[in-house]
Amino acid sequence: MLERARELDAADPLSEYRERFLLPEGVIYLDGNSLGALPSATPARLEQVIRGEWGEGLIRSWNDADWIGAARRVGGKIAPLIGAQPHEVVAADSTSVNLFKLIAAALDMRPGRKVILSEPGNFPTDLYMIAGLERQGLAQRRLADRGQIAEALGDDVALLLLTHVHYKSGDVFDMAALTRAAHEAGALVLWDLSHSGGALPVELNACRADFAVGCGYKYLNGGPGAPAYAFVAERHHTALNQPLTGWFGHAAPFAFSDDYAPAPGIDRLQCGTSPILGLAALEVGVELIAEIGVERLYAKSQALSEFFLEALRQWGLDLELASQPGSAARGSQLSFRHPEAYAICQALIARGVIGDFRDPDILRLGFAPAYLRFADMAEAARHLSEVIASGEWNRPEFLQRAAVT
Ligand SMILES: *Cc1c(COP(=O)(O)O)cnc(C)c1O
Repeated sequence: MLERARELDAADPLSEYRERFLLPEGVIYLDGNSLGALPSATPARLEQVIRGEWGEGLIRSWNDADWIGAARRVGGKIAPLIGAQPHEVVAADSTSVNLFKLIAAALDMRPGRKVILSEPGNFPTDLYMIAGLERQGLAQRRLADRGQIAEALGDDVALLLLTHVHYKSGDVFDMAALTRAAHEAGALVLWDLSHSGGALPVELNACRADFAVGCGYKYLNGGPGAPAYAFVAERHHTALNQPLTGWFGHAAPFAFSDDYAPAPGIDRLQCGTSPILGLAALEVGVELIAEIGVERLYAKSQALSEFFLEALRQWGLDLELASQPGSAARGSQLSFRHPEAYAICQALIARGVIGDFRDPDILRLGFAPAYLRFADMAEAARHLSEVIASGEWNRPEFLQRAAVT
């Protein structure tokens, strides 16, 4: 397997991009879906922003270094990765906060309808942000299993809120079909792209999506706690009312008026001052992913996960796959179900193979294709087989749960 892997690596047009990331020696990183790796250009860029723009430029940098335009500029660079126009995307706040703004905006656009429809097992923050509005008496949460979403779209539904690629299983929703079904029922649609943006092609406008949010620190490699992004289709820009009416969403923030007037366009989604250091790091990651190209990344991630499954079969390991068997039906990850998934994950990490565990029994391996090699797949499959065959996971230090899993 290793020999074939080396041949595939030699023929891989993306192999040169591994050097554009700083990865520790001896680590096979299968968790880029949770925290993307560090682009090698990021430290120097941050140094320049900190010492030059902040240290030297001081407050002048709001204009001279275009800090004032950073949220829109970075949003505009994310846009082509998700099938949006540059002026439809802004990089701001966390995914959770952007969910809040857009769920509330959707409720405002559909007076008389209160239901936010989602699926059980959606990413917790998506469900919790609905719950917060429910406690204010503004929303009503309804959950329907993935197969039954179209039937649950009654005339009381204001918004369909779904995560395009499921964080645990990697299952992919049919964005075009569900968006159409929601629109036919008179509802709006908000897609969470946290596990899609930068990993697989997304066509928000071709699917007629209304809203989207996504994460900056996963496949966009923006660093821990990187700003998230939000998309609003151009046709909704004038009608959009979001409740976090901070001064950066004002039409003229530096007029210091007592009364709020929303900025035209996507800027009204901004709330407070942008985190400039975070945006600078995110911009490096986004530019790198855009340079490699989402189509090529997706093709390679499919090849990597297929190769990994083949390597497991070669080792005779029969693990229960919790993801779809065909690579076209899943995102850039493979999830396996095992009662000892937590300890197996810890034993793998001790061997330098970093994946993650998702409660209660999922071992999740992400295949961020920008920096992974086929040889990493062969090696990771060998480690996983050895850990399970030898029972190596069954040690007290691997069974002990940590605070962050
Ligand atoms: C990672 C992730 C988030 C993260 O939300 P934050 O507010 O940035 O912590 C949201 N939604 C999904 C589906 C995710 O996978």
